[in-house]
Amino acid sequence: MTDSTILADGTIEDRATAAHGARTRIRRHPERSVPERADEILRTGRVAHVAFAEDGQPFVLPMLYHYEDGTIYLHGAPASRTLRTLRAGTPVCVEVTLLDGLVASRDAQNHSANYRAVMVFGRAEAVTDLAEKRGVLERMTARYFPGRAAGTDYAHARDGELKAVEMVRVCADELSAKSRTGPATGPRDADPEGFGSRFVVLLPGTDA
Ligand SMILES: Cc1cc2nc3c(=O)[nH]c(=O)nc-3n(C[C@H](O)[C@H](O)[C@H](O)COP(=O)(O)OP(=O)(O)OC[C@H]3O[C@@H](n4cnc5c(N)ncnc54)[C@H](O)[C@@H]3O)c2cc1C
Repeated sequence: MTDSTILADGTIEDRATAAHGARTRIRRHPERSVPERADEILRTGRVAHVAFAEDGQPFVLPMLYHYEDGTIYLHGAPASRTLRTLRAGTPVCVEVTLLDGLVASRDAQNHSANYRAVMVFGRAEAVTDLAEKRGVLERMTARYFPGRAAGTDYAHARDGELKAVEMVRVCADELSAKSRTGPATGPRDADPEGFGSRFVVLLPGTDA
């Protein structure tokens, strides 16, 4: 899906199936629902966890990805089982997490993590146009290596090399985004003189 837009409530504009449905309703800590931040998280993330089922067997594969205009692009070898399965139109769930901090509490059960995460549900379709593939891969390279440009910092891919890359775009039907921020909030954490210690280990620029 190109030229689509993620709306503030997490729905996808211009898609008949777009809906904020039961599968993306955040039940635990609904106040942490941040669908309006989905774009930012997907633009910042480095690793996508790509999940699908094949003959009832679930798989989750870590992959690099590119994201723009509401669309996630994945690529790899044509022999990849994941890409072969996705291009056949199998339902897919793509998850991206930014791990922002580790949260230590004065209470055992209130240790936690600060994070931003997005979960996208949809289906993939093949990208076969060589110009589109080239553009996506060059913009993806610039996203992972800011400022790095084809033709200046590395040689342009040849058409044959582009043909040898399998690429799919994930057309998002629906998504959710969730974020935790701040220190621990256990029963002892509000008391600076309380037992033990509380702190947050910041993990700037990392993701998982
Ligand atoms: C950070 C990161 C980024 C990656 N980016 C890409 C990318 O952009 N494109 C790409 O094609 N591949 C990427 N990979 C590799 C990818 O995860 C798969 O290993 C690869 O794509 C083969 O996928 P497949 O569907 O053919 O798996 P298969 O070869 O069919 O997998 C068979 C079995 O091998 C095991 N396996 C496969 N991959 C992994 C794994 N990563 N870790 C542990 N066990 C595994 C599982 O048990 C799986 O069931 C990346 C891996 C990492 C860690």
